[in-house]
Amino acid sequence: MQFILGLISILIAEVVRDIYHIAGHYWQPIKQFHLLHHKAYRRDFSIANMEIYQKSQLYNDVPEALCMVGLTAVMAVVTQNPGMWMGCIYSCAFLIPAFLRSQGKLLATDLSHKPGDLEGIPALWRVNRTYHWRHHFDETNAYYAGHFTSVDRLIGTSLALKGKVVAVTGASGALGSALITELIKQGAKVTAITTNPAAEFAPEVTVLGWQLGLEAELLTSLRSVDILVVNHGINVYGDRSVAATYDSFEVNTFSALRLAELFLSTVTKSSDRATKELWVNTSEAEVNPAFSPLYELSKRTLGDLVTLRRLDAPCIIRKLVLGPFKSQLNPSGVMSAEWVAGAIIFLAKRDFRNIIVTINPLTYLLFPIKEFFQSLYFRLFTKN
Ligand SMILES: [Zn+2]
Ligand SMILES: [Zn+2]
Repeated sequence: MQFILGLISILIAEVVRDIYHIAGHYWQPIKQFHLLHHKAYRRDFSIANMEIYQKSQLYNDVPEALCMVGLTAVMAVVTQNPGMWMGCIYSCAFLIPAFLRSQGKLLATDLSHKPGDLEGIPALWRVNRTYHWRHHFDETNAYYAGHFTSVDRLIGTSLALKGKVVAVTGASGALGSALITELIKQGAKVTAITTNPAAEFAPEVTVLGWQLGLEAELLTSLRSVDILVVNHGINVYGDRSVAATYDSFEVNTFSALRLAELFLSTVTKSSDRATKELWVNTSEAEVNPAFSPLYELSKRTLGDLVTLRRLDAPCIIRKLVLGPFKSQLNPSGVMSAEWVAGAIIFLAKRDFRNIIVTINPLTYLLFPIKEFFQSLYFRLFTKN
């Protein structure tokens, strides 16, 4: 019991850290000191100016840790629970190094600002360097979390779309159009990738035509794309001809895969690991019947191949696992494409890597289990 209370007090300390940080961006009295923190580093997290760095430690990091120490100590005294002191001791482990860094000592303890190229992709639950890099150099009004990502996930600042170049395939379909509208609302610069020459888009949308099998022609354009949403697909319904089989796999699986790989090949710079993302609409058919066997088979294969690819992902790869929504492919869909698009963005901004939007409760249960075991199986029986 005391141990659990101790963990809760650590969590409280971390929430205090994040609130102090957010206040540093919005509350004038401490804003000037927090700005020192942002001025202290170059894009590779090397120290730009030692004097500013030491000042930022003394006037930003030390008071931040003092707030953590103070509040957890008050809570331990008020609740009279010895376990609650754990959060206070934990906070001291940040206060002391911050003070020493302000004196120019123990600089290596500044782990989330370790200089050098970004190595991993942004972590999901604990803030790593790539995660925090985005707060400094992608969007300073997002990615506030200091240690656990929970506060960002709660307030929807785990992904900033403002100013990002987002390209969407299947752009003239119901979901494609709804996503484009939603992304524009979020301040993204949208590119519509479409095979339909007659499709019309809002004036601010850049339109890019492509043809099945000629995905490689999009390479140059994809280099400047931050987020690619692979969203195109066909549904042959009850057709079980050989041609329908090939068409389903060619469009739903292989062209999606070719585009995905093409995009992943553009993740070359250190910063690309932090800012680029691939989203793939694999559909709820991954785990549930769609009453269209070839649609299911081709989408399931795509879903599994994305799971396999995620093992060596050079950037974040999200799956869109969507239930039936009203579209040309599915006129009897229950949800509206606009609602689904809104929900996708809501969940992406909370860093859901598997974005499930459906009215079928089974999917929420089955999909994570399937994804976990499939990923484990692939990890055990394949190698890079
Ligand atoms: Zn900041
Ligand atoms: Zn920082």
